[in-house]
Amino acid sequence: MKKVVILGAGFAGLHIFYKIRHLIDKKFELTVIDERSHSLLKPSLPEVAFEGAPISHSLVELEHTITHKGANFIQDRVIDIDAQNNKLTLQNGEEISYDYLFITLGAVKDYDAIKGFREYGYSVCDDTQAQRLWERVKSFEGGKVVTGAAKSVWGTRVDAPDLSAPCEGPIGEIMFMLDHYLIHEKGLKREHDFKIDVFTPGEIFFEDVGDVPRNAVGTIMQERKMDLHNNKVLTEIGKDFIAFEDGTKMACDLAIIIPPYSAPKVLKESNIGDEKGFIPTDKEMCHLDYPNIYAAGDITALAQPKLGHIAILQGAIAANRFLKDIGEDVEIPPFDLEVFCIMNMGGHDATMIVSNKLYGGDLDKVFHSPVAKMMKWGFDSYLYYNKGHMPPDFAMEAMDKFIQL
Ligand SMILES: Cc1cc2nc3c(=O)[nH]c(=O)nc-3n(C[C@H](O)[C@H](O)[C@H](O)COP(=O)(O)OP(=O)(O)OC[C@H]3O[C@@H](n4cnc5c(N)ncnc54)[C@H](O)[C@@H]3O)c2cc1C
Repeated sequence: MKKVVILGAGFAGLHIFYKIRHLIDKKFELTVIDERSHSLLKPSLPEVAFEGAPISHSLVELEHTITHKGANFIQDRVIDIDAQNNKLTLQNGEEISYDYLFITLGAVKDYDAIKGFREYGYSVCDDTQAQRLWERVKSFEGGKVVTGAAKSVWGTRVDAPDLSAPCEGPIGEIMFMLDHYLIHEKGLKREHDFKIDVFTPGEIFFEDVGDVPRNAVGTIMQERKMDLHNNKVLTEIGKDFIAFEDGTKMACDLAIIIPPYSAPKVLKESNIGDEKGFIPTDKEMCHLDYPNIYAAGDITALAQPKLGHIAILQGAIAANRFLKDIGEDVEIPPFDLEVFCIMNMGGHDATMIVSNKLYGGDLDKVFHSPVAKMMKWGFDSYLYYNKGHMPPDFAMEAMDKFIQL
């Protein structure tokens, strides 16, 4: 029986697992490898950092989720991929061979690339950082807050949008959720007790969507007295300042950043990525040099921005391309990317953004309403209670119809 391995059980890896699991032990043996015991549902981390939500609601246990469907689960770090010989090496020394490989390792959040981050900086991008930030937010009694994304640099092998930041949606959540918390939970006053400044490494903030959502977010920022600073490439965080490549500094009592994204070490060293280590694929998510390797999610060079919604779209394409390659009668979904996210703004407030302007389309919508917040709760809870399984197709189609309305 053919051996199939999924490397990384995040959004993309789990989606592929659910898409192909019906053929486990009928057409192939499946092994899922992840260094974590639990998959991390990152979209709910801002609730951990700004509302004190329990981290357990952002975690999907992997061993039982994977093995009770007949696949094998190995919790270990992959340290080498020998694509010429279809072989992987794990940190424990074990070698694993495969006939087909899915690479869904996500991107590394490179906090150490920012001088001073470990001493003075905060973030929301993983379970440790989100819980650490909540401790700081609870004790914050006012002052200057600065938030923004550091600049990330991508490879050039495939034709994908060259964004300055991996995704600025979480910055929107940070600024609005913190503003809500400081006013409604701590009783502080904007401008009098605290001020939130936002920076972007790009020419424009929210560069992955069109004018409609961007202007809507800009208007709310103005109403909430938040200043935006464009073209600011973060270099250092100090005790009471944050510094940029152009030599400017801002006073800062609390710096909350999205660090640069990079490829995992194993891909930089295994020589199967582009010059930055991200996996170059065609639009059926097949590796450009190795036809038995598929990739999806943040680790692909084509995933711009780095978004769970795109990881899921790509995961569905990769899964069906593989199923077709092993003789199944399936259709490969088209590579029609769009930016879709629901930005939590604290309390009952949220903004849903749907746009394909970045890819030359004309969809560019924004929906600011408590209904968007309910949709986010519904979606995040569905993922958590269904162990990372996406809502069924009819629910996604209903959502599309709702967006059109
Ligand atoms: C704060 C925050 C909020 C977000 N909110 C949203 C949102 O509202 N909507 C949205 O669509 N997207 C959102 N995103 C983006 C989304 O979370 C990512 O795009 C998505 O998780 C990418 O999925 P993935 O499967 O590619 O990678 P990941 O989910 O990162 O999974 C990668 C997996 O690979 C494993 N792994 C990595 N290296 C190794 C190794 N060497 N050996 C073994 N295992 C390894 C990791 O442990 C991990 O489980 C958010 C991101 C952040 C940081």
